[in-house]
Amino acid sequence: MKKKKEKSFYEKLVISFNKKMKIKINKDKCLGCGMCVSLAPEIFQLDEQGKSSLKANAQIEKNRDSIKQTAENCPASAIEIEE
Ligand code: SF4
Repeated sequence: MKKKKEKSFYEKLVISFNKKMKIKINKDKCLGCGMCVSLAPEIFQLDEQGKSSLKANAQIEKNRDSIKQTAENCPASAIEIEE
Protein backbone atom coordinates (compact mmCIF):
# COMPACT_ATOMS: atom_id res chain seq x y z
CA MET A 1 0.00 0.00 0.00
CA LYS A 2 1.27 3.46 -0.93
CA LYS A 3 1.96 5.76 2.02
CA LYS A 4 0.13 9.11 1.86
CA LYS A 5 2.58 11.99 1.45
CA GLU A 6 2.60 14.37 4.42
CA LYS A 7 1.95 17.98 3.36
CA SER A 8 4.75 20.46 3.93
CA PHE A 9 4.36 23.46 6.22
CA TYR A 10 3.97 25.74 3.18
CA GLU A 11 1.38 23.51 1.53
CA LYS A 12 -0.68 23.56 4.75
CA LEU A 13 -0.34 27.34 4.95
CA VAL A 14 -1.63 27.76 1.40
CA ILE A 15 -4.54 25.42 2.11
CA SER A 16 -5.58 27.36 5.20
CA PHE A 17 -5.14 30.67 3.35
CA ASN A 18 -7.43 29.40 0.60
CA LYS A 19 -10.13 28.21 2.99
CA LYS A 20 -13.47 29.48 1.87
CA MET A 21 -15.54 31.81 3.96
CA LYS A 22 -18.89 30.41 5.05
CA ILE A 23 -21.86 32.70 5.54
CA LYS A 24 -24.88 31.78 7.63
CA ILE A 25 -28.00 33.92 7.75
CA ASN A 26 -30.34 33.38 10.67
CA LYS A 27 -33.71 34.16 9.08
CA ASP A 28 -35.49 34.05 12.45
CA LYS A 29 -33.35 36.96 13.62
CA CYS A 30 -33.35 38.88 10.30
CA LEU A 31 -35.45 42.06 10.43
CA GLY A 32 -35.56 42.49 6.66
CA CYS A 33 -34.07 45.99 6.93
CA GLY A 34 -32.06 45.54 3.71
CA MET A 35 -28.84 46.98 5.08
CA CYS A 36 -26.87 43.90 3.98
CA VAL A 37 -28.16 44.39 0.43
CA SER A 38 -26.97 48.02 0.51
CA LEU A 39 -23.52 47.15 1.91
CA ALA A 40 -22.84 44.03 -0.18
CA PRO A 41 -25.25 44.04 -3.13
CA GLU A 42 -23.25 41.36 -4.97
CA ILE A 43 -23.78 38.92 -2.10
CA PHE A 44 -27.11 39.55 -0.38
CA GLN A 45 -30.67 39.93 -1.60
CA LEU A 46 -34.05 39.92 0.08
CA ASP A 47 -36.14 36.83 -0.61
CA GLU A 48 -39.89 36.70 -1.18
CA GLN A 49 -40.47 36.72 2.61
CA GLY A 50 -38.42 39.93 2.84
CA LYS A 51 -35.54 38.16 4.61
CA SER A 52 -31.90 38.27 3.66
CA SER A 53 -30.54 35.47 1.50
CA LEU A 54 -27.40 34.78 -0.48
CA LYS A 55 -27.42 35.40 -4.21
CA ALA A 56 -26.96 32.23 -6.23
CA ASN A 57 -23.86 33.52 -8.01
CA ALA A 58 -22.39 35.35 -5.00
CA GLN A 59 -18.64 35.89 -5.36
CA ILE A 60 -17.78 35.40 -1.72
CA GLU A 61 -13.98 35.42 -1.97
CA LYS A 62 -13.93 38.70 -3.91
CA ASN A 63 -16.18 40.43 -1.37
CA ARG A 64 -14.69 39.24 1.94
CA ASP A 65 -14.24 42.75 3.35
CA SER A 66 -17.75 43.95 2.57
CA ILE A 67 -19.21 40.68 3.93
CA LYS A 68 -17.31 41.13 7.21
CA GLN A 69 -18.43 44.74 7.44
CA THR A 70 -22.02 43.68 6.80
CA ALA A 71 -21.93 40.95 9.46
CA GLU A 72 -20.52 43.43 11.99
CA ASN A 73 -23.20 46.01 11.22
CA CYS A 74 -26.30 43.85 10.91
CA PRO A 75 -28.66 45.30 13.54
CA ALA A 76 -30.00 41.84 14.40
CA SER A 77 -26.65 40.01 14.36
CA ALA A 78 -28.28 37.65 11.88
CA ILE A 79 -25.20 37.12 9.71
CA GLU A 80 -22.48 34.77 10.91
CA ILE A 81 -19.27 34.19 9.05
CA GLU A 82 -16.80 31.35 9.42
CA GLU A 83 -13.31 31.55 7.94
S1 SF4 B 1 -28.83 43.60 7.69
FE1 SF4 B 1 -29.34 41.88 9.03
S2 SF4 B 1 -31.42 42.29 9.71
FE2 SF4 B 1 -31.07 43.60 7.95
S3 SF4 B 1 -31.85 42.41 6.19
FE3 SF4 B 1 -29.65 41.97 6.38
S4 SF4 B 1 -29.52 40.11 7.65
FE4 SF4 B 1 -31.57 40.98 7.92
